[in-house]
Amino acid sequence: MAEARLWFASALLPNGWADGVRLGLSDGRIASVDIGVASEAGDSRHALALPGLPNLHSHAFQRAMAGLTEVRGPAGDSFWTWRELMYRFVERLTPQDVEVVAAMAFMEMLESGFTCVGEFHYLHHDSDGRAFANPAEMSERIVAAAAETGIGLTLLPVFYAHAGFGGAQPSGGQRRFINTIDSYANLLETTRVSISTLPDGRIGIAPHSLRAVTEAELSALTAAAAEPIHIHIAEQIWEVEDCVAWSGARPVEWLLDRFPVDPRWCLVHATHMTPGETTRLAQSGAVAGLCPITEANLGDGVFPAEAFLTAGGAFGVGSDSNVRIDASEELRLLEYGQRLTRRARNVLASEGGRSTGADLYRGAVAGGAQALGRDATGLVPGAAADIVSLKADHPDLCGRRGDQQIDSWVFAGGSQMVDCVWRFGRQVVAQGRHQGRDVIVPRYRAVMERLLR
Ligand code: ZN
Repeated sequence: MAEARLWFASALLPNGWADGVRLGLSDGRIASVDIGVASEAGDSRHALALPGLPNLHSHAFQRAMAGLTEVRGPAGDSFWTWRELMYRFVERLTPQDVEVVAAMAFMEMLESGFTCVGEFHYLHHDSDGRAFANPAEMSERIVAAAAETGIGLTLLPVFYAHAGFGGAQPSGGQRRFINTIDSYANLLETTRVSISTLPDGRIGIAPHSLRAVTEAELSALTAAAAEPIHIHIAEQIWEVEDCVAWSGARPVEWLLDRFPVDPRWCLVHATHMTPGETTRLAQSGAVAGLCPITEANLGDGVFPAEAFLTAGGAFGVGSDSNVRIDASEELRLLEYGQRLTRRARNVLASEGGRSTGADLYRGAVAGGAQALGRDATGLVPGAAADIVSLKADHPDLCGRRGDQQIDSWVFAGGSQMVDCVWRFGRQVVAQGRHQGRDVIVPRYRAVMERLLR
């Protein structure tokens, strides 16, 4: 027996657009898909349905720093000066603050059309660097924020042990992040229990970067992992040069030479790759985790997306620093970075006659689900009922058909076009507003006023 019936004037199904689509939902999943039907009494009627977009990379607490790091320093700014500011901000956050900020970020993700998130979670300990009495205290705050907002959570507890390549001692600013292999195993087991309280929660492992783990630690972490494995890989040129100085190899090259990188892996910010690394990564089946808004904000560089997609690479998008949370804008900026550097248009459409926005959307839905350890995706029986609807009366949808509707969302209308969002069958957004907004925003405001006093 279906618990709910949603009817859409049109919907994006795996084989293309269909009109008059009724989705029967049961236990959080799509139980039935009827095509070419009229709406009936008892149907909840909506305009246009898309599968929800996964957000494969987030550091939720960084939402609270948005807009605070945009003043030029005395000697020029870089990723590394930004990181110093982030470390200072981190020192002040209590577990309660983290929960409040994460709820704000997750709410905004849902309102923009993201239905799941991969939370790359590295803030584990108290401000003096000591573990909390419950080592999973911070993880449980992230779980609580996911439960409140309804977002689909793949929690990626981060293993972080060193300040640089070759096992360098961590710095004072990193003391809230640090674990040993044993303390990490304990954290993972405790987190697994709390994740099981969420509807359709998932867990993965996240060695922070090649800077923060040794080869032996990376082997110990990944050898038997059945879950997704996420790692920051080649975000900054300095990082690439440092890796070469340490090992003689570039980060992506080093990883591919030594580890069986396969579809379990998600390489976040594989920004700096040679053509050879690009092809090898595409052929590995791993997902490239791209975060165009953050990569632009931090001055990282531009991912070689055309070569990677041409070689058959899988990709997804993430909101990373959460300086701005907007599903359609991540896709727009991904394409615009390519247009600006290549001086061409419609670079990432898969072939002539294809829509850029729709190809990027389909690719990011599939790659994002893979990276977050989620199997069936799309509006098909058995898949989680993760659905986004757009406002039929939005002027940017006027007269649009089929894939033009996604192009108009991605390149023109943006997040203001989002109408309703369902995650695992629960409607969490209606008319563009999250059901918890009136509670979540004032609470966030109070925390920010205290933190920034
Ligand atoms: Zn990151």
